[in-house]
Amino acid sequence: MATFGTLSDRLTETFRNLRTKGKLSPADVDGTVREIRRALLDADVALTVVKDFTARVRERALGDEVNRALNPAQQVVQIVNEELVGILGGEQRRLQFAKNPPTVIMLAGLQGSGKTTFAGKLARQLEKDGHTPLLVAADLQRPNAVNQLQVVAERAGAAVYAPEPGNGVGDPVRVSRDGVEYARQKLHDVVIIDTAGRLGVDAELMKQAADIRKATNPDEVLFVIDATIGQDAVNVAKAFQDGVDFTGVVLSKLDGDARGGAALSVASLTGRPIIFASTGEGLDDLEPFHPDRMASRILD
Ligand code: GDP
Repeated sequence: MATFGTLSDRLTETFRNLRTKGKLSPADVDGTVREIRRALLDADVALTVVKDFTARVRERALGDEVNRALNPAQQVVQIVNEELVGILGGEQRRLQFAKNPPTVIMLAGLQGSGKTTFAGKLARQLEKDGHTPLLVAADLQRPNAVNQLQVVAERAGAAVYAPEPGNGVGDPVRVSRDGVEYARQKLHDVVIIDTAGRLGVDAELMKQAADIRKATNPDEVLFVIDATIGQDAVNVAKAFQDGVDFTGVVLSKLDGDARGGAALSVASLTGRPIIFASTGEGLDDLEPFHPDRMASRILD
């Protein structure tokens, strides 16, 4: 898992300076808030998120809870921690299952964001928990995508529903709908639909994803986003929210050189919870996302 190295170091340094003070003056608070703001912006956190965050921290840090605290500096750290948990989504949100199986989980995101890899990881984890997942290959855009999903599924020991070989230019909406029907017949209790991505956001991609959503009525639509993409996260997340209206977020490549920006922006910008953190290329590199643990990691 990413350590948020630079961001973490800078916040620690900011708080170390603060701790040398006894009572905090408004100037101390302003100075601290300014440093937090710079550290977040340098970590590629979206500007609107940074503005809201620092405004809330400032207001609380100038208020009574700090004034009356035995250790004002410690209280400010506590406030920053609570506000970080808040922008990361607050409470942990678990995957939601349908009352009547199969539970349908649709994946959406840019090409290369880590959807197919995540599909395999999720299938593996669900199997460990006693489920019988079916992976549906609805990415018919890239010639090799169906094959890639089959490889991932085999490694995960999960079943796949895919169009016949050589018939890869089929209709992804139909494949998705048929996949759900197939799961119902074969008693798979969870269906994971891997959809096509593009290198950038485009209208055709969004329409296709929206059509698959309409045709399969998923219980979860998980938006997979590469945590290393920095400020682009804002536009990509908003486009997918408008286009397919996802229910939750998967942060992938959190093991990479993520500076933390996407992780810290996405939940707050979209109002959708981060449900999983994908932390490597291996099938077991998947963790449920805990906003409080992530905040502690950043402030460690
Ligand atoms: P898709 O196009 O969205 O299906 O993306 P893929 O699942 O094919 O992933 C694109 C690349 O990112 C592949 O080389 C994966 O091995 C790699 N990848 C996916 N998830 C992770 C992750 O959590 N960490 C790292 N380091 N690499 C990942």
